[in-house]
Amino acid sequence: MKPVQSTLKKWMKENENFQENYIKIKHEVLNDPEIKTFLSYHPQLSKKEIEKNLIKLYEYKTQSKQCESCSSFSNCKNMLQGYSPILYVENNELHLSYEKCHSRIYHEKQKEQQKLVQSLYMPKEILEATISDIDSDPTRSNGVRELLRFVEETKSGIPKKGIYFSGPFGVGKTYFLGALANKLKEMHISSTLIYMPELVREIKASMKDDSINEKIDFFKKADVLMLDDIGAEMQSAWFRDEILGSILQYRMMERLPVFFTSNYSLEQLETQLASTRGGIETVKAGRIVERIKQVSKEVEIYGKNRREI
Ligand code: ADP
Ligand code: MG
Repeated sequence: MKPVQSTLKKWMKENENFQENYIKIKHEVLNDPEIKTFLSYHPQLSKKEIEKNLIKLYEYKTQSKQCESCSSFSNCKNMLQGYSPILYVENNELHLSYEKCHSRIYHEKQKEQQKLVQSLYMPKEILEATISDIDSDPTRSNGVRELLRFVEETKSGIPKKGIYFSGPFGVGKTYFLGALANKLKEMHISSTLIYMPELVREIKASMKDDSINEKIDFFKKADVLMLDDIGAEMQSAWFRDEILGSILQYRMMERLPVFFTSNYSLEQLETQLASTRGGIETVKAGRIVERIKQVSKEVEIYGKNRREI
């Protein structure tokens, strides 16, 4: 008899703990501010339904919502890495589901970028640039103001126009793009920053392996495209008209912004784009510059050459 009795006692003891735990968890769950708000929006949920789904509510409570408690994708604390819980009510029943979190979406885009484009390489100082690091040198304040305006407008949707930063070598134009890309990343918007000579190389290389259309599509559809040093690439009429022209045309129609940096003003760029091995083609170059104007606003940056010691 004894073993049975002790087992029973053990069970009763555990059960008591269970009851205690249950009451504790229920209290915690129903007093969670987010859950309280959710339930107040759904007064139709019966006590019984809430009670029945206490475990779902508990699960919701313990998971990080849209990365609020995770420092990065690889440090995601949730049961399903990169998925954020959502509570909803359907037919007076409570449901819990999961959606991809910002960090996962960003991570997937980055992986896709890396898979497609090998040369999105940027120096470390550009990758770590921040807008607040851009000093208040009055010759650059115009550029900073435009950057901040773009960031502000982005809060209510990505603006259709980016910026064309023109100015001499070394004044920090590429740094501006890096700082903006980092700011946009905080806002869960991915940017595709590519050095123009690399873009030409990348596209030419992909002609051999059939991935050219996929690559062009990638640049057409990037949330925010940043073309660094336009005018520094080897001029080819084919690249200018068929590749650059079609990327810009698409982005213009779809109202997607493009950022540029260049040592040339837009006026000078037109001359630069016009001269290819095929001769001087002012009409075609003019067409590209027109599209650039549609997708960006020219801002001149002056200041000292930061590369000089
Ligand atoms: P540009 O693209 O106009 O030729 P860069 O953006 O490459 O110039 O800047 C030149 C150098 O100065 C780079 O090494 C860059 O990291 C540095 N730099 C530019 N702006 C800043 C800044 N605000 N703070 C610190 N370093 C900067
Ligand atoms: Mg540069």
